[in-house]
Amino acid sequence: MREGTERPRHVRAGVDRRGALARISSWLAAGAAWPLLSAPSRSPSRQREGSSTPSRRVRKIATEEAFVIPEVAAAMREVVQRGGPSLDLNLWRLVYNTVTVEPTVARVATTGPQDRDALARQFLPRLLDLEQLRLAEMDANDVDVHLLSLVSPGVQMFDRDTAVALARLSNDRLSETIRRHPTRFAGLACFAPQDPAAAATEMERAIRSLTLNGFLVNSHTDGVYLDDQRCWPILEAAEALDAPLYIHPRSPSNGMAAPFRDYRMDGSIWGYGMETGTHAVRLMLSGTLDRFPRLRIVLGHMGEALPFWLWRLDYMASPGSRAALKNSLKPSEYMQRNFSMTTSGLEDPLVLRYMIDKVGVERLMWAIDYPFQQTPASVAFINSATLSDAEREQIAHRNAERIFRIAS
Ligand code: MN
Repeated sequence: MREGTERPRHVRAGVDRRGALARISSWLAAGAAWPLLSAPSRSPSRQREGSSTPSRRVRKIATEEAFVIPEVAAAMREVVQRGGPSLDLNLWRLVYNTVTVEPTVARVATTGPQDRDALARQFLPRLLDLEQLRLAEMDANDVDVHLLSLVSPGVQMFDRDTAVALARLSNDRLSETIRRHPTRFAGLACFAPQDPAAAATEMERAIRSLTLNGFLVNSHTDGVYLDDQRCWPILEAAEALDAPLYIHPRSPSNGMAAPFRDYRMDGSIWGYGMETGTHAVRLMLSGTLDRFPRLRIVLGHMGEALPFWLWRLDYMASPGSRAALKNSLKPSEYMQRNFSMTTSGLEDPLVLRYMIDKVGVERLMWAIDYPFQQTPASVAFINSATLSDAEREQIAHRNAERIFRIAS
């Protein structure tokens, strides 16, 4: 174990006392055992030899790690209770509308099928907690840093004024947390796309005053994508501040929702990737990246399938090949110039190898997608993927240090 001073102490979680949140708070304060913490694993694979194991300990910066603050959780609870057509509600209803949160509801199996709905009912305590369960699990699994971001859909399902206020509050809390643990946490600011001018102001504050490491937006907002001219102040701010903009998934917007309504295809099974990949293609083909050539975009989930499609995108969308296309570069050229990608939630070494060959190791970063993915498996993935030492170090921490300006 490293950094004994950073090990979690009996710190009372700073959450307010309302409804279910109060229950969670007292449960956290009581230091209740968390099932996922019961089997800390120090990856045994590190003992083996060969290119599928690191020859020395590798620093690990996890780059898509979610948290929530009680005020945002309370507002999301109102959103799910109000209901509506948004596909996002399928997951967030389970997370926020669960009156009783018992940490032992689900057993987390390391093999075989898991009851994912039962797991979802356990996400909230782990999202609210920053300094107890989280740091303990990072320590137990040899994870150095979480690059934190407000959990999807951020403030993007709130009315404009609520969204603006909660974005500011969330960024303040994030910054305070990082200040308490500067070697363990970095953070991506949220903003309210509902009010692009206020978003730009908050983005500037987040970088210049709070010294956060970039931004995260959860794909569309009320069906509006970032290529929409109304969103240009947001892209202008990100470019001017030279800070990366992580486009994180949420469920398909109402306009593309119908075929995703069955079989829980709304979320991480398939809908998230389709929604977010579509968003990225819109940025390419709309010419938005010609207007903002220095915009730095990050995609999760191995690039939301875009690297797999890249040859066909180039073939079908070469500049000027169709009247509707507004891109001046090939999609692969935008990919090389404007995008980097993380491994979040897709722990397949063959896909990782393809990504290295197709888009380049210098734009790939490791991520867990905590608490939705399991830390031990994600750590085992990056420790055991067949990589050279240099590749593993680039993906595990060096690229994140460069792209997000995290101290090495
Ligand atoms: Mn995520």
